Amino acid sequence: QSNVMAGKRGLIVGVANDRSIAWGITRAVTLNGAEVALTYQGEALEKRVRPLAAEVGATLVAPCDVTDDDSMKALFDTIAEKWGRLDFLVHAVAYSDKNQLKGKYVDTTLDNFLRTMQISAFSLVQMAQYARPLMQHGGSILTLSYLGAERVIPHYNVMGVAKAALESSVQYLAADLGPENIRVNAISAGPIKTLAASGIGDFRYIMRWNEMNSPLRRTVSIEEVGNASLLMLSDMGTGITGEVMHVDAGYHIVGMKAEDAPDI
Ligand code: NAD
Repeated sequence: QSNVMAGKRGLIVGVANDRSIAWGITRAVTLNGAEVALTYQGEALEKRVRPLAAEVGATLVAPCDVTDDDSMKALFDTIAEKWGRLDFLVHAVAYSDKNQLKGKYVDTTLDNFLRTMQISAFSLVQMAQYARPLMQHGGSILTLSYLGAERVIPHYNVMGVAKAALESSVQYLAADLGPENIRVNAISAGPIKTLAASGIGDFRYIMRWNEMNSPLRRTVSIEEVGNASLLMLSDMGTGITGEVMHVDAGYHIVGMKAEDAPDI
């Protein structure tokens, strides 16, 4: 615990429950001094998010569905009215039809391709557009990605393609907004058991595979992603933009695990 986030106000989009990666980030930033606004997607999730918001003293709780531009506009209008500025923004949003998060990518439909892209990649651009006028003294935008953007992971399919677009968007947005001192980064997290992850085929096996093969021989927690986010979101990271930082127990570096070769 420190005060590295003291005086900073941030919007965090993507808390669904206390297992959400966005919740790990919310806990970390508030423990370290930040004031936050949280959103919920629909009434069912509002019931879960409100008590969590109260727990961290969130000063603003509002609905936000990224496919509904009116709700986005209303959210940022409220922030402008209440705070007048925004120091950081966390985008932890993704969606795809779970019937296409199993089986093969080749079977992706146009409809689900476009929807997945809109919710999981374009929404970052959309939020950057709304956040920009509130970040006139600079700011930090952080999104969440996964290794499936860079390499083929079974069942990740269209979500991997959307994460590739998301990571590329991080670079283009970082270049566009850098002159305004707005930084844009991503954390590529290892697999974590969350609501969104439960839609991915054989997710338990993906977790197990990471435990067996990552350098640290384990997976990561939402607390660890939260702690890492402090670097990107605080003034400790003012020299970092356009970066995709892996918080995955090192899994992304492994080509082949060192172990005694079997007799073959
Ligand atoms: P989660 O289910 O807790 O969070 C996903 C969030 O996306 C939810 O809060 C949901 O309400 C929100 N969302 C979906 N559609 C939306 C819409 N139309 N409008 C507004 N919000 C919408 O799961 P999570 O795993 O914490 O996911 C957060 C982010 O982390 C996602 O981008 C996910 O791809 C990424 N990520 C997850 C893992 C993992 O293994 N869990 C690994 C790497 C990256």
